[in-house]
Amino acid sequence: MIKLSSVSKKYKKVQAINKLSLTINPKLVTGIIGPNGSGKSTLINLLTGLVAMDEGAIKTDDFEITNISLSSEAIDLPNSYKVAQALKLFSISKQASEEQVQELIDKLDIRDQLDKNIKALSQGNKQRLNIAIALMGNSKLIILDEPNNGLDPAGFVLLRTLIIELKSAGIGVLIASHLLNEIESVCDEIIFLKNGMLQLHEERESIMRDYKSLELAYLEIMK
Ligand code: ADP
Ligand code: MG
Repeated sequence: MIKLSSVSKKYKKVQAINKLSLTINPKLVTGIIGPNGSGKSTLINLLTGLVAMDEGAIKTDDFEITNISLSSEAIDLPNSYKVAQALKLFSISKQASEEQVQELIDKLDIRDQLDKNIKALSQGNKQRLNIAIALMGNSKLIILDEPNNGLDPAGFVLLRTLIIELKSAGIGVLIASHLLNEIESVCDEIIFLKNGMLQLHEERESIMRDYKSLELAYLEIMK
């Protein structure tokens, strides 16, 4: 379990995360939803160590933080590289086998992008590359920050399938997204954030029972 106790993070005058306490089960698919600026990315960046907290604690009893892999716009891709070169570079640092890399190229359907420069990729293909890199190696928890951004409808379907596959392989996924339908379709648990504070952390089943849809829950909880 990953346990946050009263974690806070302030950027100058903005309290991005405010005394947040919650427990994330790294074996489940967990969604983080909330308005723009509610602290979703900051929470993710705190979990992965990209951002340092001001106060509080994050404990991971039986779970190594090094077992987390992140896909996020906060991670810069080497823009002057070709896609194939970037995949090679990351496969070395993430200790991914050639076989796994080839499998990810097919899964993310980016084989016809391999010879292109990263800076010439469409936003959707850049997102696919980001996700492929996040899935390299043997991570036990994959964190995806707004993974649907830029994806086309086929990309949406592919992402949903990947998340379901990861979960059945015992790998948890934590997804921040403003797309309630995508969160509703894949998540076991959902965290609602507003102004850096926890509004609700509940199982999807229970939210559906209480509110009928995630959208209705969102409108009620965020009002
Ligand atoms: P979300 O991902 O939910 O849209 P963020 O975590 O990106 O929210 O942002 C939370 C708040 O913190 C926002 O008000 C945002 O403007 C602010 N913020 C985020 N990152 C920075 C930063 N690097 N410098 C200053 N303010 C930031
Ligand atoms: Mg964000």
